[in-house]
Amino acid sequence: QPGGMPPLEVRDVTVRFAGLTALDGVSFTVEPGTVHALIGPNGAGKSTCFNVLSGVYRATSGSVRLGGAELTALRPHEVAALGVARTFQNIALSPRLPVRDNLLLGRHRLTRAGFVAAGLRLPRARREERAHEARIAEIAAFVGLGDLLGTPVGLLPYGVRKRVELARALAMEPRLLLLDEPVAGMNSGERVEMAELIVSVRESLGISILLVEHDMGMVMRLADRVTVLDFGRRIADGPPAEVQNDPKVVGAYLGT
Ligand code: ADP
Ligand code: MG
Repeated sequence: QPGGMPPLEVRDVTVRFAGLTALDGVSFTVEPGTVHALIGPNGAGKSTCFNVLSGVYRATSGSVRLGGAELTALRPHEVAALGVARTFQNIALSPRLPVRDNLLLGRHRLTRAGFVAAGLRLPRARREERAHEARIAEIAAFVGLGDLLGTPVGLLPYGVRKRVELARALAMEPRLLLLDEPVAGMNSGERVEMAELIVSVRESLGISILLVEHDMGMVMRLADRVTVLDFGRRIADGPPAEVQNDPKVVGAYLGT
């Protein structure tokens, strides 16, 4: 339901580390129901921006608003509870646990008390647990993992593990999904599959997506809008075809 999702408004966000300005007055808006790409050379500030949006880092100044809520002072689980879920650049799944348990863990980040109750095997908690498992099975089927629910994640090929990571974020029922380099390290077949999956997350589930991506072809194919960072500053913002030919963007990528 894209209508139910307010825009994410990043306004004049600055992040300073000791002696270094990682983000310098950055603004952009992720419109509901869109795929928005955040790109830029190494060290441009993309991951820092994700860390601010997901409550991992606190901005030095500026604001991030989702509907009526100001996200900049919130902690990661509070941001997640507002419907903003993220994946990490380095996979953080539990390799010994089956796909099902990894997805349930993602889901229980919202309801930590529920997880404790389920551990104590209270009847109501058991019923809720079955409802969670049914939903997990639906999400797994959606991302093409329906037959792998019982398989330990560590036994899966890399490209499939990246889909588990996406499914785990979806298990949190987000309104906005932050994807940090979802096709990094994938072969071309896996890239195409992941791109199709991202499109269907947007189209079938109505979830907005903010994507950090190096693969320019992927950005051009997928994104409705692109924000380009360089040395912590926004140097371009617009539709992919426009941004691609912007001399400032071309220069930043060539290191001139
Ligand atoms: P990108 O993801 O675009 O490659 P980053 O956001 O990771 O860029 O980094 C932007 C800049 O901020 C880099 O110069 C990086 O070294 C610095 N930086 C990132 N995180 C920290 C941190 N926790 N402490 C100090 N400097 C950091
Ligand atoms: Mg990064």
